[in-house]
Amino acid sequence: MAETAIMYDSSKCTACKGCQVACKQWNQLSSPMTNDEYLYTKGFQAPIRLAPKTWLIINFIEEDKKVGIDWNFMRKSCFHCTDAACETACPVGAISHKDNGSVVIDQEKCIGCRYCVASCPFGVPQWNETTNTTFKCWQCQDRTAAERSPACVSTCPTGALQFGDRADMLAVARERVEELKGLGFNKAELYGDKELGGLHTIMVAQRGIEAHGLIRDPKVGTTDFWQLLKPLGGIAAAATVGGLGISYIMARGYKRDAMVLDDATGQLVKAEEVEK
Ligand code: SF4
Ligand code: SF4
Ligand code: SF4
Repeated sequence: MAETAIMYDSSKCTACKGCQVACKQWNQLSSPMTNDEYLYTKGFQAPIRLAPKTWLIINFIEEDKKVGIDWNFMRKSCFHCTDAACETACPVGAISHKDNGSVVIDQEKCIGCRYCVASCPFGVPQWNETTNTTFKCWQCQDRTAAERSPACVSTCPTGALQFGDRADMLAVARERVEELKGLGFNKAELYGDKELGGLHTIMVAQRGIEAHGLIRDPKVGTTDFWQLLKPLGGIAAAATVGGLGISYIMARGYKRDAMVLDDATGQLVKAEEVEK
């Protein structure tokens, strides 16, 4: 199977959030009451972050201008990296690449260690306390296997989302970047061609990578490194406690012998030996 990709063009996105809804609907992800789970920001950002049952959000990034603001939209979900930190970090092989380049989590294999949560440079995988497993976008494998677009793509009313052969999506994105530059958006950039070996969610950042909240030149394993070590810290602590316990059990019946100084030799010896 050829490598495929989702292409998101921020310059065509109206932030209608249809894709957010379609993702929830197709993947049967319930929506909690906003007041219950999310902070109310008085802005248009809702939900404000990814969650075990929210695999896609459209971010609203506001940039102050002399007059008014610019709204820089960005699609936040899994990037389906070629060099996927989550896959490398998983100790039980629960995360794998499909032939088309997408990255999926096997819920049957996941042990809830959260190494993937700590290692993803974009903060994508979300741990669910109830199931003790992590969740993220799976690029609608059930749909793409049947030669249908992912649910988010198929619902987008403006053509801001497209899906297809990765090389074709890159060509469309490159052409759009040049077009935007011609329209005066000099900082327009393509994201996803080379990052982390090549992403399978490609972006057109109308006002530049940083303006849309993307990480320039992301690195594997630099984010939240100490969180990654936390489970190891837990293991070390458990081993220490266990070791102390074993020492206690072994020492419980032990009594130290009374010792005296042997005047003849100048050495400490057991008192009973001197008495003999
Ligand atoms: S459905 Fe399309 S236009 Fe609407 S928020 Fe999603 S990407 Fe943007
Ligand atoms: S974006 Fe994060 S969760 Fe998605 S494939 Fe890359 S490392 Fe894994
Ligand atoms: S590809 Fe499917 S699972 Fe991923 S964000 Fe789109 S609708 Fe959700």
